[in-house]
Amino acid sequence: MRMLSSEATAKIGEQVTLQGWVHARRDHGKIMFLDLRDRAGLIQLVSTKDLADARPEDVVEVVGLVKKRPYSMVNPKIATGTVEVEVTKITILSKAKELPFPIDTEGYEINEEIRSKYRYLDLRRPRMARNIRIRSKAVAYIRNFLLARDFVEIETPILTKTTPEGARDFLVPSRLQPGKFYALPQSPQQYKQLLMVAGFERYFQIARCFRDEDPRRDRAYGEFTQLDLEMSFVTQEDILRLTEDLFSSLVAQIFPEKHISQSPWPRLAHYDVMKKYGTDKPDLRKDKNDPNELAFSWTLDFPLFTEQSESDFFFGSGKAKFAPSHHMFTAPHPDDVGLLDTNPMKVRGLQHDLVLNGFEVGGGSIRIHQAEIQEKVFDLIGFTDAQKKDFSHMLTAFTYGVPPHGGIAPGIDRFMMTVLREPSIREVMACPTSASGATSVMDAPSSVASDQLKELGIAVLPQRKK
Ligand code: ASP
Repeated sequence: MRMLSSEATAKIGEQVTLQGWVHARRDHGKIMFLDLRDRAGLIQLVSTKDLADARPEDVVEVVGLVKKRPYSMVNPKIATGTVEVEVTKITILSKAKELPFPIDTEGYEINEEIRSKYRYLDLRRPRMARNIRIRSKAVAYIRNFLLARDFVEIETPILTKTTPEGARDFLVPSRLQPGKFYALPQSPQQYKQLLMVAGFERYFQIARCFRDEDPRRDRAYGEFTQLDLEMSFVTQEDILRLTEDLFSSLVAQIFPEKHISQSPWPRLAHYDVMKKYGTDKPDLRKDKNDPNELAFSWTLDFPLFTEQSESDFFFGSGKAKFAPSHHMFTAPHPDDVGLLDTNPMKVRGLQHDLVLNGFEVGGGSIRIHQAEIQEKVFDLIGFTDAQKKDFSHMLTAFTYGVPPHGGIAPGIDRFMMTVLREPSIREVMACPTSASGATSVMDAPSSVASDQLKELGIAVLPQRKK
């Protein structure tokens, strides 16, 4: 039966079978060493026979005897460094060609397109393997934390209608209704609010979001993952506390080497933070050279609206002056509701941004739950009647008994990138889309057969030269 490398230290003197990849080989004349790698780590194999066939990255099965290493030969750098396996028999299960790039380095020096093309090899790199494994642990922690607090995990549709998070939509043509399109969700915002109308009260989802915007280092092109959550009958205070408890305990459990600079997390008003730091996501670390410091903070009291600019292509008819700071479902501060009619730019929103070491790692708000205020906000952002109709399901739902509700959506990739001090979120995603918009390994987007287009009633225009 197969044994993992990590079990070897407890099996001294026993005959064992290991399976894995040849990580490295060292010829020392009459004696040869191979490092074998499996999901648990590395272990040294030793043989006096010629194992010339076994080259790096070949997949092998090894039968051998576990031996304690003499004290002077112990390798403290690997967990199995006190033992080695004397090879009795080695079988090559699969040969490997020479890899297109080294995998025993950090990998930052290698061209990203090539890493992306051979992502399955790039993920063998110890740094990448570690990132993906620890991400899985963090997500499992989040899930357990929320399930233990009466949250329900619910999946919402991927084929859906436009969601107004301020980016371009990805569109999917409908075959059954030619000429019509689904949009991939920029977030589950509307569905999670509708789930509050449905009475679930506490929802979360590890949600995939799709936004067609230019890549930045803290936002991948195309898709990313967020912890999307929503609660009914809560105040902003409840949302901040829950988030703070979740991330503080997650850090303690999953990243014990890290320390949080200040608890409770500082809460800063938007006006003050802009005045003091010139940004709404200040880096509040006490010592920026400390790799283990995590400075969380909240930015609150955002203005509900910003001046509409050309990039707010989504909103209005181009005539309106206002665009939502967060999104159009964010509730105005109760003291400022009157200002919606007289001075909208002065209205504060019940928005909260979660900031970590100078990155916005999440945002959310208390939502509007009165149809008439929602309509007023639609008007202020210049929605046409047709645009209003696109969101009429929300207004309709709000006529059937809607609880006051609110939520937040911390970005999983962005959080992991920041905590692991990676230079881009692509370093914490298994198969990210590259900066030029090509998917890992499979190189989408790609052309499709003309029959497929015909079926969809679509014709592709000749491409304009750039
Ligand atoms: N839907 C928002 C976003 O994805 C988050 C929220 O308001 O809960 O940014």
